[in-house]
Amino acid sequence: MTDLVEKDRRFVWHPYTQEKTAAPPIVISGAKGVWLFTADGRRILDGVSSWWVNIHGHSHPTLNRALARQAEELEHVIFAGFTHRPAVELAEKLVKILPSGLERVFYSDNGSTAVEVALKMAFQYRVNRGEKRTTFVALEDAYHGDTFGAMAASDGSAFTEPFKSLLFNVLRVAPKLDEIEQLLKTNGHEIAALIIEPMLQGAGGMKIFSADWLREVRRICTANDVLLIADEVLTGFGRTGKMFACEHADISPDIICLSKGLTAGYMPLGVTVATNEIYQAFYDDSRLKTFFHGHSFTANPLACAVAVASLELFETEKTLLRVQAIAAKFVAFAKTVAEFPCVNEARTIGGVVAIELKSADGGYLDNAGPLLLREFLKRNILLRPLGNVLYFMPPYVITDQEIEMVFGEITEVLEMLQNGSLENPV
Ligand code: PLP
Repeated sequence: MTDLVEKDRRFVWHPYTQEKTAAPPIVISGAKGVWLFTADGRRILDGVSSWWVNIHGHSHPTLNRALARQAEELEHVIFAGFTHRPAVELAEKLVKILPSGLERVFYSDNGSTAVEVALKMAFQYRVNRGEKRTTFVALEDAYHGDTFGAMAASDGSAFTEPFKSLLFNVLRVAPKLDEIEQLLKTNGHEIAALIIEPMLQGAGGMKIFSADWLREVRRICTANDVLLIADEVLTGFGRTGKMFACEHADISPDIICLSKGLTAGYMPLGVTVATNEIYQAFYDDSRLKTFFHGHSFTANPLACAVAVASLELFETEKTLLRVQAIAAKFVAFAKTVAEFPCVNEARTIGGVVAIELKSADGGYLDNAGPLLLREFLKRNILLRPLGNVLYFMPPYVITDQEIEMVFGEITEVLEMLQNGSLENPV
C-alpha cells in the first residue's frame, strides 16, 4: 500500500463506500481525455464520465485556460447584493438555449441542491400565492440526490432507508400515464409539483422513457395546474443526444435542475431555472415573499467561467454531432448484446448504453455490481454498474477505436458470465 493510500485509509471517509470491506482506493495522479492515470502507472478508461459529470474529456486545454484566467481575475465573491460577469454571462447563455419560458437562473452548487431549490421554489410559489398545495408527486425508481428534500423525492432504497422516518411524504406513482392522470385529477388541489427525470431515470437503473410519454406528462400537469419540475442533472448538456432531454418531446417544464455536465465536470455548480410566472410570485414589496435560500459558493465565478467555456465548446467542437455519432454505435451494440441469454434487456439513449443482466436479486445491492466493477478494472476500464445494470457513459471525446475496445471487453465479460468463468476466477 502506498503512503497516500495508507493516509487515505487513516483520514478519509469515502461516499457510498463500506469502508470496512472496500478495496483500497486507486490513486489517480492525472487525467486526459477519457483516460485516468493511476499513480502506479496504469491508465484506466473513464467509462462513467467520473459520475456522469465529464463531457468534453479530462483536462481540456480550453477549459483549463478559462479556469486559470478566471482565477487570476476573481475566484469568489458573495452573491447576495453582488454579481459578476461569469454568472451573468452563463445565465444569459443558458436562457438562450433552454426550452422556452425558462427565464430565471438561480445558482447553487451541486445536483442535490439544484433539486432542493426546485422543491422549495415550487412550494413557496404556492405559499406566496396563498394556495394550499403542499404535496409533491414523484415517480417509482426516481433518484434526485442525497439531501433531505431530494431523498424524499427519490424512491425508497438502501440510500434512504435509515432516514425514512425523517422524510416528508411524497405521493409516489408508477410511470403509467393513466395512473399519473388519475392521481393529479383526484389530488390536484393539494399538489405543488410533479418531479421527473425526463427521458432517462439514471440511478434507478438507466430506465428510458419515450418522448410521447414526456409530452403527455406535460399535458397532464398543465391540465391540472401542477408544476412540472424536470431534473436534468444527469440528462442535461447532451447526454441523451439533445442538449436537454425535454427537447425530445419539445416541451418546457416550469422548473429545470441542472448540474454535472454544466461545468463539463470541472467544478461543483448547480442551477435551477424557473419560468417568469414563478419568479413573479416572489417579486413583491414584501420581504416575506423573498426566496430565502443560498449557499456560500452560490454562483462561484470559477465554476461559472468554466461553464461558459464549456457551452462555447458545444459550438466550436460540434459536440452534439459527436454524441449523435456515439448514439448510433450504441444502438447497434445494444442490439448485439441483447442476444446474450444472460441479458434481460439492453437499452440506449444518446451517449448512454445500459445492459440489464438477468438476476435473482436485482436492485442496487445486487452482487453483479462489485463483481463487474472489479473485472472491468482489471481490464483498465471504469464501469460501475448499478446493481445488475451495467452501463457505459463515456465523455463525448471518446474515439471510435476506444468505443470498439470497450465493446470488445464488455462482450468478453458477458461471455464469461455466460459460461460461469467470472464467478470462479482462476
Ligand atoms: N438528480 C439526478 C437525476 C442525478 O442523477 C443526481 C446524481 O446522480 C442528482 C440529482 C444529485 O446530484 P449530486 O450528486 O450532484 O448531488
